[in-house]
Amino acid sequence: MTTETKTDQEKAKELSDKIFKTVTDFKDSFQCQKCGKCCEEGSGVALWPHEFKRIQRLKKHIFRYITYLNNWHVLKMPCVFYNKRSHKCKIYDKRPIACRLYPLGITLDGSTRISSNCTAIKKEGSNE
Ligand code: SF4
Ligand code: SF4
Repeated sequence: MTTETKTDQEKAKELSDKIFKTVTDFKDSFQCQKCGKCCEEGSGVALWPHEFKRIQRLKKHIFRYITYLNNWHVLKMPCVFYNKRSHKCKIYDKRPIACRLYPLGITLDGSTRISSNCTAIKKEGSNE
């Protein structure tokens, strides 16, 4: 009799493949309107520990711009790295994963959700 139990490594590979496919499919079809809303409004950007360390090196007095919620450091909105004049992110190449994925959000179990606050998603929903 063979056992069908998957190893942790196999499960992790399956999950990362699933996430990669979801992100690729979504990003291929998504057209950002570059409105900047996601850098100015909302509940903030949750940072992984390594991202928080990186961001801490990029900005003096970072704790003024961060809150701590459910064991996560979260960038407050409007984001300190958003340039209102140019509508650009000042740390674009170093921006957190949550910003790279937005409006797609992925939980640790691999399930996904799309933010209905995103201007492009709202537009799509209105069939314009
Ligand atoms: S809210 Fe949506 S459309 Fe606007 S900048 Fe963010 S991702 Fe792009
Ligand atoms: S880090 Fe950059 S992309 Fe992310 S919310 Fe701030 S300004 Fe926007």
